[in-house]
Amino acid sequence: MAKVIDSKIPAGPVPEKWKEYKAHQRLVNPKNKLKLDVIVVGTGLAGASAAASLGEMGFNVINLCIQDSPRRAHSIAAQGGINAAKCYQNDGDSVYRLFYDTVKGGDYRAREANVYRLAEVSNNIIDQCVAQGVPFAREYGGMLANRSFGGAQVSRTFYAKGQTGQQLLLGAYSSLSCQVNAGKVKLYTRYEMEDVVIVDGRARGIIAKNLVTGKLERFSANAVVIATGGYGNTYFLSTNAMGCNCTAAVQCYRKGAYFANPSYVQIHPTCIPVHGDKQSKLTLMSESLRNDGRIWVPKKIEDAKALQAGTKQGWEIPEEDRDYYLERRYPAFGNLVPRDVASRAAKERCDKGFGVNNTGLAVFLDFSESINRLGIDIIMQRYGNLFEMYEEITDVFPGDLANEINGVKYYKPMMIYPAIHYTMGGIWVDYELQTSIPGLFAIGECNFSDHGANRLGASALMQGLADGYFVLPYTIQNYLADQAVWPKVSTDLPEFEEAEKKVDAELDRLLNIKGKRSVDSIHKELGHIMWEYVGMGRTAEGLKTGLKKMHELEQEFDKNLFVPGTKEGLNIELDKAIHLRDFFTMGQLVAFDALSRNESCGGHFREEYQTEEGEAKRDDENYFYVGCWEYKGKGNEPELIKEPLEYEAIKVQTRNYKN
Ligand SMILES: Cc1cc2nc3c(=O)[nH]c(=O)nc-3n(C[C@H](O)[C@H](O)[C@H](O)COP(=O)(O)OP(=O)(O)OC[C@H]3O[C@@H](n4cnc5c(N)ncnc54)[C@H](O)[C@@H]3O)c2cc1C
Repeated sequence: MAKVIDSKIPAGPVPEKWKEYKAHQRLVNPKNKLKLDVIVVGTGLAGASAAASLGEMGFNVINLCIQDSPRRAHSIAAQGGINAAKCYQNDGDSVYRLFYDTVKGGDYRAREANVYRLAEVSNNIIDQCVAQGVPFAREYGGMLANRSFGGAQVSRTFYAKGQTGQQLLLGAYSSLSCQVNAGKVKLYTRYEMEDVVIVDGRARGIIAKNLVTGKLERFSANAVVIATGGYGNTYFLSTNAMGCNCTAAVQCYRKGAYFANPSYVQIHPTCIPVHGDKQSKLTLMSESLRNDGRIWVPKKIEDAKALQAGTKQGWEIPEEDRDYYLERRYPAFGNLVPRDVASRAAKERCDKGFGVNNTGLAVFLDFSESINRLGIDIIMQRYGNLFEMYEEITDVFPGDLANEINGVKYYKPMMIYPAIHYTMGGIWVDYELQTSIPGLFAIGECNFSDHGANRLGASALMQGLADGYFVLPYTIQNYLADQAVWPKVSTDLPEFEEAEKKVDAELDRLLNIKGKRSVDSIHKELGHIMWEYVGMGRTAEGLKTGLKKMHELEQEFDKNLFVPGTKEGLNIELDKAIHLRDFFTMGQLVAFDALSRNESCGGHFREEYQTEEGEAKRDDENYFYVGCWEYKGKGNEPELIKEPLEYEAIKVQTRNYKN
């Protein structure tokens, strides 16, 4: 019999759901001295906000991260901003409109009720962060400023220069530090969760590795929350920080937590193009640049060829010979179409030979028109640090005047190309953010919850902070209220003993392979397979080939890996080997999911399923569900379980960004 998933969505029209839900909370009063312990793994925006809030509410929190400080979590990389439905611009924004844009942006594959709740708490996030002192950009008159991001026709993105994630994390970190000082949060930096411990069917603790001493340690609690980020680094080259990994999530999956929609991977249109095989990282140029930057390739193939050969420069091509292909194809949204649409359009132009650099895999992002209109000072105020970052990497400053043709000034454009950036898929959670393992919760990028098949820009920070400040602190109480009568389990239980032994044996196994290949060389090869067969354009045949190649490479990993050093003390190569082991599981999961979904939607583009104009062709009749995968052991195909989607407030239709 098919398994049924209880997503715990309360009944009733969408706008009422969350209010009803809140009214039914059984509050575990902070002052009631229940001494309930919660482990929060991760100190990114989701983890830090959750740990701070739970500490503030009276729980005893154990908070771990792999970096030497919570302030170095990957969330600091976020540049562009965070969405909220404040409607400060008086442009017709509303909670409903943010909800609608997000569901549509996700290509109608998100859970409607979750997204409504997200939109509803979005405004609280801004208030919370302002109260913490986050220095959001302001208008001259003092009001918080906004800019626009893809998939929206209103201006609802709050930002702090191009450093929004860092400033938000400093805010969350100061709240967290208050709780550390108050003794409610115990912080463990340079600790990596290696396994979740299940006792009598419930998550009761974790095994973590002290990354400095190499020692394995046991932690027990009444509930475990993972906030460990996404799995973009499965592709080796991505915009994610190099430390990002999916080990915690994959271990939860191996222990029985369902993994939802793994094939929904976001490829961001505006990244600095790959320029060699020695790179280990790609750099994002924030989507905010698309507010004022215009994306183009030459109209004439001979111009493209000259650009590729280096005999012509972009600024030598006059206005009438430029193809602003997003403005041409999507007049209503222009350069601000959602990321999946913009990325595919760039690929389409480059595949047709119109790429503008020596590899043919780049398009221009040009500020000439906006600099001519607004002046360089205004543009620098908006994007100064991004221009400087671009110059540092490419030696080209996008604000430099380069040419004048017929009285029109042309500035040096940026070159950009799509790259792996964010993962919409993640650990399956119900409406309460609880996974399919009771007592195990997942928040932030590591869960699958709110973005459907494509995340809109500036919505990840919104979701991470919504989960951490305003959703989990309520919903976890439903679980913990029943836990009040249960004593915290001892870490001497056989379940802890067994889990620790298994992790230890795994470390020995990896060290004792003593082969010839470094972790990075194998990871890079995995990345090539992922990009080629499980990347921007997928086919059934390619996915099968990719799965076969991944399986062979995993065998090579098991037989020919070389990890220097020992288990004791700091061993970064050993830590990377663990991550790579889990990237293999993840990569195959992405491919299985992509193969099972015979349609194109959002970030999942199956070339067999496209319209004549090359747009994604959904199949709502057969694939209107969340695809959840259950682990069935190494080398075995996981089992697909479906959570049907139900929409009450929004009419499911074909996405249209043209008019
Ligand atoms: C370059 C870039 C720019 C971006 N810009 C924006 C933007 O402008 N707006 C927006 O909304 N989104 C943006 N995003 C996306 C957004 O930054 C992320 O989705 C979000 O910050 C993820 O937050 P998180 O708390 O879920 O995870 P992370 O910030 O990734 O934090 C993960 C935490 O888990 C810890 N951890 C991981 N594994 C383990 C383990 N096994 N054991 C212990 N701890 C572990 C880490 O130490 C870290 O503390 C951007 C992403 C990138 C890459």
